[in-house]
Amino acid sequence: METVKDYFGSLVFNEDTMRERLPKDIYSVLRRTIDEGEELDLNLANAVAHAMKSWALEKGCTYYTHWFQPMTGITAEKHEAFIKPEKGGKVLLEFSGKELIKGEPDASSFPSGGLRATFEARGYTTWDPTSYAFIKEDTLCIPTAFCSYSGEVLDKKTPLLRSMEAVSKEARKILHLFGDDVKKVSTMVGAEQEYFLIPEELFNNREDLVLTGRTLLGKRSPKGQELHDHYFGALKTKVGEYMRDLDKELWKLGIASKTTHNEAAPAQHEMAPYFTSANIAVDHNQLAMEIMKKVALRHGFVCLLHEKPFKGVNGSGKHNNWSLSTDGGVNLFDMGETPKENARFLLFLAAVIKGVDEYQDLLRISIASAGNDHRLGSHEAPPAIVSIFIGSDLEMMLDALLEGKQVLGKLGSKMRFGVHTLPEIQRDSTDRNRTSPFAFTGNKFEFRMLGSSFSVSEPNVVLNTIVASSLSEFYEELKKAGEGDFRSKVIELVRETYKKHKRIIFNGNNYSESWVEEAKKRGLENLPGSPEAFDAFTREKNVKLFSRFGIYSPLEMESRQEILYENYSQTLRIEALTLVDMLSGKVLPAIESYTRELADALLEKKKALPKLSCRYEEDLLEDLSVKLDNLFSMEKELSESTGKGDGMGEKEMAHHYRDVVLPLMERIRKVADEAELEMPSSLWPYPSYSQMLQYV
Ligand code: ADP
Ligand code: MG
Repeated sequence: METVKDYFGSLVFNEDTMRERLPKDIYSVLRRTIDEGEELDLNLANAVAHAMKSWALEKGCTYYTHWFQPMTGITAEKHEAFIKPEKGGKVLLEFSGKELIKGEPDASSFPSGGLRATFEARGYTTWDPTSYAFIKEDTLCIPTAFCSYSGEVLDKKTPLLRSMEAVSKEARKILHLFGDDVKKVSTMVGAEQEYFLIPEELFNNREDLVLTGRTLLGKRSPKGQELHDHYFGALKTKVGEYMRDLDKELWKLGIASKTTHNEAAPAQHEMAPYFTSANIAVDHNQLAMEIMKKVALRHGFVCLLHEKPFKGVNGSGKHNNWSLSTDGGVNLFDMGETPKENARFLLFLAAVIKGVDEYQDLLRISIASAGNDHRLGSHEAPPAIVSIFIGSDLEMMLDALLEGKQVLGKLGSKMRFGVHTLPEIQRDSTDRNRTSPFAFTGNKFEFRMLGSSFSVSEPNVVLNTIVASSLSEFYEELKKAGEGDFRSKVIELVRETYKKHKRIIFNGNNYSESWVEEAKKRGLENLPGSPEAFDAFTREKNVKLFSRFGIYSPLEMESRQEILYENYSQTLRIEALTLVDMLSGKVLPAIESYTRELADALLEKKKALPKLSCRYEEDLLEDLSVKLDNLFSMEKELSESTGKGDGMGEKEMAHHYRDVVLPLMERIRKVADEAELEMPSSLWPYPSYSQMLQYV
């Protein structure tokens, strides 16, 4: 029987396949390119292309594609057949090194934020040898970066690779001061993915889900998640079958899906893969989202990845687990055993604390989207305020360090930092705070503000860059230290950093109202909605940061900001137009026809027996008729205010949608949902929340 070991990674041109299929010398040059970023030369590319092609043909492929991640947030591919016509009407199957390295897709239909002059529509994709090629259906997919003709980035992959290099470089400099000879520091990421599964035939009957990914209307289900009977509950048979099938497909692609369980809301689930290098984790998460949707259809389900498909029901997020690891496999956020390792740990911890405090806005922006706005701060996800949870043990220790108090070390000895080892800190201390947006969980940080549908690239670009920035400042301080006082200098730096940035540490309940007040007192940033967050992107300090580390040029930042505004406005525009269509196409006619029925019934009854009270018909008729008129006026208003947005600039438009259009949609929803509650369910034109969420 075929076991997991046989098919795991069978569709990936991975380490083993490369070693097996490439000449030894070529393989070792390729390894150096991957590990140390050595330049790619054409001979190498030709050899790799040849091996890739024969492998792909054996697996039944006919096409290849440069697989890339434009600013749409999803992946793009343009398929090319391997064929090259020959004399005599035959074909050769070809794939050259040049074709492997570079593609030239037409870039004009991808968002560029005005970067690409219209006369130059060409874009380039370049092979990212650090992420393995893989097979999807009959196509060899080559992970690539995507940029414009003049070299500006147009994708989510390039900045990530740049940021990984930046943090690696800065971390190595620090590690060299510690006497650690490290060649590369890798960003490691594990992205936990939440999703909903709902029956396909119900999905197809809801324009809002089909067109916008979320329900724009829908009365609450009598049973939500109040019994807490879904979280980690036994899987429904059909859902269980889906998850098994999904795992198998993911494993074939080398995606190490490890944990699957039910989530808090009914019909909500989670998939968490084992962590890996950030660029691969980003690729894998994109692929996983695609496969999750595809496999769901095979099982009669639709997989919803929207951040908030159902109002009043927990939304879906994505937890981005992040750490730094040396080429020797040392996790730099592991506390370690020796005084040296402890000091190194504290310094890297301090680098994160400093980075997060100084660039709260960038972290907030990196997860901002129209969809995620519905989750943040609504008692199910962290608020839009960024803070760090480090746990009470670690906080107590840092506080003691700050106040010059004694802490007891491992063997009960009085601590002199840098000499004795740190006290034992419970890795999985029970107070692991689920409400924190950014939690230290023993040997990694868990960034929990991400929305479920988004690429995990941007949050990691920000994390890498802000930590690179702290480390580079630390290096400037520490390189002056003499050999004898290096470690005490490190501890001094940790103390100073902690003192300055302690305000960002919060171990309490992030969902509480009082935290919003407290955060304000501490001077922490609160950017509740996406448009405000986008405004902050191009602040001078942020432009400086990204330029300094070569992540984004000022021009690239402006273009990104424009794309952010544009995506946001377009999302809301589509939602508003969909709502207008739903109202005029089905909701209003349904209410109208029912009120007519009621009126007829009322007349008939009165005619039959004038003394009957008929309160039910009368009250309902009046109430629904008022609602009908009300909805009719608001529908007109929504049409108009959506239209108004069309003439505005990107920034103004985004704010208009948030401040005017969104609240109006909410008002409409309130009335429509009340109407749904009053109408006979058989006459309501859309499947209900109960039907979609509480299936067996
Ligand atoms: P949960 O947060 O649900 O309790 P875990 O903390 O066990 O689950 O792991 C969540 C995710 O974190 C998984 O994808 C796991 O592979 C990943 N992870 C574990 N260790 C690290 C690490 N050092 N760096 C990055 N991700 C990690
Ligand atoms: Mg988690």
